[in-house]
Amino acid sequence: MRYSVVVKTDSESAAISELLHEKLEKINFKRDDDAPEIVISIGGDGTLLHAFSKYKSMLEKVAFIGVHTGHLGFYADFRPHELDILVDRLASNRIDVIDYPLLEVDLFFHDGSKDSKLALNEATLRTHDGSTLVSDVSIKENHFERFRGDGLCISTPSGSTAYNKSLGGALVHPSFRAMQMTEIASINNRVFRTVGAPLILPAHHYIKMSLVNAGHYKVTVDTNHFLYDRLERIECRVAKESVRFARLRSLPFWQRVHNSFIADKL
Ligand code: NAP
Ligand code: MN
Repeated sequence: MRYSVVVKTDSESAAISELLHEKLEKINFKRDDDAPEIVISIGGDGTLLHAFSKYKSMLEKVAFIGVHTGHLGFYADFRPHELDILVDRLASNRIDVIDYPLLEVDLFFHDGSKDSKLALNEATLRTHDGSTLVSDVSIKENHFERFRGDGLCISTPSGSTAYNKSLGGALVHPSFRAMQMTEIASINNRVFRTVGAPLILPAHHYIKMSLVNAGHYKVTVDTNHFLYDRLERIECRVAKESVRFARLRSLPFWQRVHNSFIADKL
């Protein structure tokens, strides 16, 4: 089996990575950073987001595993002291693979060009200088609202526990092929009106966010940030692609929610 690792830049993660390489060498796994079948991230959820970003062009061939150093994560839910269990499972090929939905983010520019990105957590749209974002939001070509506020966040189910949660969005089980739109500080008064609630949309819907004013816009896709000066609109939908995680033991989503946000009893 070919594997690669993506490691957070701290000494604990580096030490775990060394140990893991030794153990994987013993079971004849070959390190291959160009065409891995397993990608192991060692660090936090942010590290796994980096690993996803690095290997997003080969998602159908790769399964991700997250080992956390520091605190428990959502993607990084394996603990360093469980390395032997992890290696045993990999050695005997007892790996279940679970699919999580992703978000496709299509960017359209005033010069007619287009770009497309994949998000594991979410995409956000806001102005570059912090001025009010004014965006016409439509759902499946039907005008929905003229949004005014700091920004908009469109998240995946597995990203619902990240930024989306801070914005008052719902936690969505990753077995739903869905996306969620949440508002970032919308302006609501007698003149301006937005729905004021998170929306959860199914896989066959798409959201179009057209920019009303010319200007500079900031788009985030997970840990990546982009600045654009000719952005015309963004469209978001549940992606055709999904991401595969190697499940080496069962840790149900709601248990992870409990452990992360209520009390970690493990
Ligand atoms: P970061 O500042 O380290 O991330 C913020 C926190 O979100 C960290 O505790 C991170 O865990 C955690 N996180 C990431 N993905 C998660 C998930 N799916 N479920 C639950 N928690 C999650 O930055 P980062 O590590 O580069 O992560 C980027 C993410 O940060 C973005 O995708 C966005 O979701 C989130 N974020 C949140 C806010 C907010 O809540 N106000 C603002 C900006 C960005 P680790 O410490 O394990 O990395
Ligand atoms: Mn982080």
